[in-house]
Amino acid sequence: MMDMEKKYFQPEFETMPVDEIKKLQDEKLVKQVCYVYDNVKYYRDLMDKKGVSPLDIKGTEDLHKLPFICKDDLREAYPYGLLATDVKNCVRIHSTSGTTGKRVVAFYTQNDVDMWEDCCARAITAAGGTEHDVVQVAYGYGLFTGGAGIHGGSHKAGCLTLPMSSGNTERQIQFMMDLNATILCCTPSYAAYIGETLHEKGFKPEDNKLKAGIFGAEPWTEEMRRDIENKLGIKAYDIYGLTEISGPGVAFECEEQNGMHINEDHFIAEIIDPDTGETLPLGSKGELVFTSLDKEAFPLLRYRTRDICVLSREKCSCGRTFVKMTKPLGRSDDMMIIRGVNVFPSQIEAVLLNSGYAPNYQIIVDRVNNTDTFDINVEMNPDDFSDTPKAITSKEKKLRNAMKAMLGINPNVHLVSPKSIARSEGKAVRVIDNRKRLGINI
Ligand code: ADP
Ligand code: ZN
Repeated sequence: MMDMEKKYFQPEFETMPVDEIKKLQDEKLVKQVCYVYDNVKYYRDLMDKKGVSPLDIKGTEDLHKLPFICKDDLREAYPYGLLATDVKNCVRIHSTSGTTGKRVVAFYTQNDVDMWEDCCARAITAAGGTEHDVVQVAYGYGLFTGGAGIHGGSHKAGCLTLPMSSGNTERQIQFMMDLNATILCCTPSYAAYIGETLHEKGFKPEDNKLKAGIFGAEPWTEEMRRDIENKLGIKAYDIYGLTEISGPGVAFECEEQNGMHINEDHFIAEIIDPDTGETLPLGSKGELVFTSLDKEAFPLLRYRTRDICVLSREKCSCGRTFVKMTKPLGRSDDMMIIRGVNVFPSQIEAVLLNSGYAPNYQIIVDRVNNTDTFDINVEMNPDDFSDTPKAITSKEKKLRNAMKAMLGINPNVHLVSPKSIARSEGKAVRVIDNRKRLGINI
């Protein structure tokens, strides 16, 4: 690290002293609140109902006075109800992936697109991207923000951009090899799949020119990071974002690979207690809430992400001063309540990888005779395929005990044949909760 030249895309912001960040946020917040109040009837009504006027907001310390806005509001106001400018001033629409329900749409002016792409360029630069790099964008292109955001960021960072989109893994690998891709960008589950396919084709990690990967758009564990790093021979960086706030690049990892810096010149982050809505101090675990500071088309004040994480402002060796968020280990709505116990898919992933299995699994929850059933299908390693039934049962038991130790409840673990669980090219679907068919609100 000593003689490594520090590279930033916009050091004037990324390394700003903390008190100046606060001052900048204060000024921008006052303006953004007035702008939203004047231009978005939906939010004006929320503020009026709460008895808050834009004059009450003089800086970030007044943020807690503002009402929250959440995904249901976006669904209710769909499609134009939260638009703050005339449609003629907008140049782009994107939509969420609909991972947890009806998709919502977001609008962008050219300035909004520029700001978002700058954020992505910061992420690429932080992962070592320069004009000497070839960035393979294997996030989906289209309505999903992943492809477009990273694509624009790669241009801004001066990298040679390979706009692959997701899927067609054979072609991904061919172009990765032929065109010497150095940075791979996709979901972590797709990165694991690409790594697996490379291995099957007889490629070793050192056969590719990749040096880094920028993976996000879904939760992934530290165990998964190590697995991908080993398979591809790279450093794997996390990136976080959501369509409602812009897209990928709201926060990104630096060389420390220990939490993601939030682009605080554009967004204010808060952590709240998801049950009471109370703002929690730095270091507390809770729901992440964002307030945009510069957005023109689709500004959001105190948007509840439902992502659970922790914020910290410890000094980072990279020199960036922006607050860091820990990996969101799941959304509050990813959490399953099984027999009264809270279970996140990420906990299951951690146990599997620590026990020597690949991250190919599926969780099936149901309710039979008023009792929750909990099954986990896990692909056995190819070497285990020739095991006797007895040996397989014993491996299943071992895994079940490890799960019990982590989760506090016993799942039925089934080792299934290699390749029998569908691979993901985008956001992986890990959970099938059949209790929904019973109309149970989970
Ligand atoms: P959807 O909510 O329909 O999936 P988006 O495509 O906008 O819509 O995805 C945003 C969400 O994806 C975030 O709110 C978060 O739950 C998840 N996400 C994005 N990046 C990460 C990441 N690096 N780690 C964990 N979750 C992430
Ligand atoms: Zn850092």
